[in-house]
Amino acid sequence: MNLRRTLLLFLSLTVAITATAQQTTEEKEKADSLKKDSLPADAIIVKRVPLASGPEFNATDVLVVDTIPSSSEGLNIVLYNDNTWRFVRNRDIDVLDETVFIQDWDTTKIQPHKVELKDLPISMVIDLVDSLKSYHYPSKGRVTSKYGPRRRRVHQGTDIDLETGDPIYATFDGRVRICTYVSGGYGNLIVLRHDNGLETYYGHLSEISVKPNDWVSAGQVIGKGGNTGRSTGSHLHYEIRYKGHTFDPERLIDFTTGTLRRETFLLKRTYFSPYSRFTQDFDEEIQSDEEDKKIAAEAAAIKYHIVKKGDTLGRIAINNHTTVTKLCQLNGIKKTSTLRIGQRIRVR
Ligand SMILES: [Zn+2]
Repeated sequence: MNLRRTLLLFLSLTVAITATAQQTTEEKEKADSLKKDSLPADAIIVKRVPLASGPEFNATDVLVVDTIPSSSEGLNIVLYNDNTWRFVRNRDIDVLDETVFIQDWDTTKIQPHKVELKDLPISMVIDLVDSLKSYHYPSKGRVTSKYGPRRRRVHQGTDIDLETGDPIYATFDGRVRICTYVSGGYGNLIVLRHDNGLETYYGHLSEISVKPNDWVSAGQVIGKGGNTGRSTGSHLHYEIRYKGHTFDPERLIDFTTGTLRRETFLLKRTYFSPYSRFTQDFDEEIQSDEEDKKIAAEAAAIKYHIVKKGDTLGRIAINNHTTVTKLCQLNGIKKTSTLRIGQRIRVR
């Protein structure tokens, strides 16, 4: 039954492709030039899954029926035996930064990075989701311990409450770097490196379902939550690192709702301080708010005069309670400059 439906799907796809091929070259070129990025009128549009609840799929539960190319070189379509399908990155072509999975790629050493904090850029733009809109919360629930100083040590991640055996999902697309057991610490730990250069850490797991060098997709079940290592009570210890340096995961993820707070993230070097928490950035917010207001006020105070017949710089200055010198400064003109009727002169 499943196979028959799959075959039917293929047949209808083939019909659609043949129909497109019969279009005259001229027509096609015209359509292409008019709407370069749009889809053909008969295209079947499938809504993307919202960021809040990316597709969760357990690679062990479904079988891959076939992998077919899509209209984009960088994407393949994988068909599963439960009649579902998904886009999967073609890893041979679509590599954003080729060095991401090469530089400091170590499947045995948890911390292979040697970049000091002071050598990181002051800020950088991190793309969290690409055209595939790939994101899935690692685990959804109450935050039981936040990032930052905790008594005499620093808590490098966020703790999320769960029941042992709950599925743990890969946050973004990427590759498994570490699967190990750290006694007295992380317990069962998975470290994933993502296309955007970030690494995510999943600690205290009861089960690990992936192995080093595996490619994973956002939403893929990588293991099960637990209580292994230095832990009292089942929870997920979740970290986000850039070149080994941690920052508050709550800057990116709202763990209560499971949603991603933003698609593009400006990662500032100051965020790597254990004292820099998502919830403590109100000062910064107030400051930028004040700057915005200042700029808006300056913009609102600007006044222009449109030059009319008979206007001179002297007359405009007198009428606007200013001086010729000031007018010249504001407009980058000389006292001898000729004024044209209709010209816009800034007077304030
Ligand atoms: Zn923790």
